[in-house]
Amino acid sequence: DVANQLGIANEQITNHERILNLSRTDAMTGLLNRRAFFEIELPRRVARLERTGQKASLYYLDMDNFKMVNDVHGHQRGDDAILFLRDMLMEHSRPGDAIVRLGGDEFAMWLDGMEGEVTEKRAKALLEASKALEEFSGDADHPLGLSIGVALFDPSVGEDLSDLLVRADEAMYAVKKAGKGGYRLAAPPGASRPGEKDT
Ligand code: GH3
Ligand code: MG
Repeated sequence: DVANQLGIANEQITNHERILNLSRTDAMTGLLNRRAFFEIELPRRVARLERTGQKASLYYLDMDNFKMVNDVHGHQRGDDAILFLRDMLMEHSRPGDAIVRLGGDEFAMWLDGMEGEVTEKRAKALLEASKALEEFSGDADHPLGLSIGVALFDPSVGEDLSDLLVRADEAMYAVKKAGKGGYRLAAPPGASRPGEKDT
């Protein structure tokens, strides 16, 4: 009957949504996965920002010395560290922010409506909070920590999203090269050298 058919239809919608949600999230952390972020979430957000003119910030985060956690304390402890960082990022986010597990010990955050000074404040706060990761460290000479690259997105510039991602990634990598455990603001779009400021 009709009621029954509606029931089946509803169930299929729920299944469809569940499968969609699963394909968009990272199984271990429940965060957005890389593909969903780049292919769905980011284009959608950028289109909205282009309408409102609001800026945004992209944070690229990679844990320092994560492999040592696995090597010394085992894979389970490594997983615990990832979940710890997940919780930390969630505590440092607001409704509407995107938190992504890009893969392994690499994460990203996207915050709408951000300008320079606030963006830097948030990076400092994240870094301060990341000191709690130290308890997971493989050894004292290789503390578990966080390297953060930050790129500002200004919709009026018309920057390619791939260029924005490269800027954030390069800023993060510059922190690694400079000794890890810090943040760096990416050079503005068009400038060739990454990182003008660091901690
Ligand atoms: P760096 O300081 O330069 O960032 O180096 P790192 O030691 O943090 O190591 P790197 O970022 O190069 O590699 C991350 C490692 O994370 C590689 C992989 O074995 C491990 N890994 C990836 N996914 C998982 C996971 O889900 N759980 C655990 N426990 N380990 C993972
Ligand atoms: Mg790492």
